[in-house]
Amino acid sequence: MIISVASGKGGTGKTTVATNLALSLGTDVQLLDCDVEEPNAHLFINPSFEEMETVFVPVPLVNEEKCSYCGKCGEICQFKAIAVVNENVLIFEELCHSCGGCWEVCPEGAITQGGRELGVIQKGHSNGIEFIHGRLRVGEAMSPPLIKKVRSFENRDKLTIIDAPPGTSCPVIACMKNADFVLLVTEPTPFGLYDLKLAVGAAQILNIPLGLVINRSDLGDNKVRKYAHQEGLPILMEIPLNRQIAEAYSRGEMLVDVMPEWKAKFLGLYDQIKHLAKP
Ligand code: SF4
Ligand code: SF4
Repeated sequence: MIISVASGKGGTGKTTVATNLALSLGTDVQLLDCDVEEPNAHLFINPSFEEMETVFVPVPLVNEEKCSYCGKCGEICQFKAIAVVNENVLIFEELCHSCGGCWEVCPEGAITQGGRELGVIQKGHSNGIEFIHGRLRVGEAMSPPLIKKVRSFENRDKLTIIDAPPGTSCPVIACMKNADFVLLVTEPTPFGLYDLKLAVGAAQILNIPLGLVINRSDLGDNKVRKYAHQEGLPILMEIPLNRQIAEAYSRGEMLVDVMPEWKAKFLGLYDQIKHLAKP
């Protein structure tokens, strides 16, 4: 089973939920930190990293000796990443989506595939958990290809927990796609509710069963619960605002280590997910 832990709003406690769920379940679990712009699950899981891989995406490389400056590459590119100006082929690598259109259409075979570095993937283990995360190169704007690469290590023989980035745009969709369940972590505030609605919309478009965890549940108002009730969204867990929990988080400690009674609650959360997830 693949569980994608997401949140519309940042800072709702998504990583706390993903890491503590993984640690409570122990072996036969993979934790994939797909928040590649700002991965932080490793700070809590403390894996020993055993492998590192640099990830590249293909971008065009033009051999101007073969080029006839016909302009066909520029015409086909939907992203304005390649242009032919006076007998020059200009390439804007950061705009390239690696669709391959230009090297397919080039009549002279003048375009080959080069590589643009996206970032790195690191793999390791901690307490029986297989841990993988991606780190986007500073300045790189396109995270979905790196997220896909992290997800290419999903192992269907294990339970896979994905820590998704905040928001509701392409990187989050890349983390929800093909998941069996989306666990949305929210907080009972107006901002939490606004972003939750967007995240629910995204999961519903993908037709994935979902449930909520309300963090800092004794803050704010009751509108998130009312919304969940109206929409028929199950609230699977509530985590109160608690000084001990906040201090543990700030020290990079796991909630289930500091307050072991929470382990049973995370196991209960998983039991509920099993019943609600795609068969
Ligand atoms: S399609 Fe090929 S030959 Fe034509 S301008 Fe582009 S690189 Fe040159
Ligand atoms: S690979 Fe696609 S996006 Fe990139 S330059 Fe070629 S046509 Fe444009």
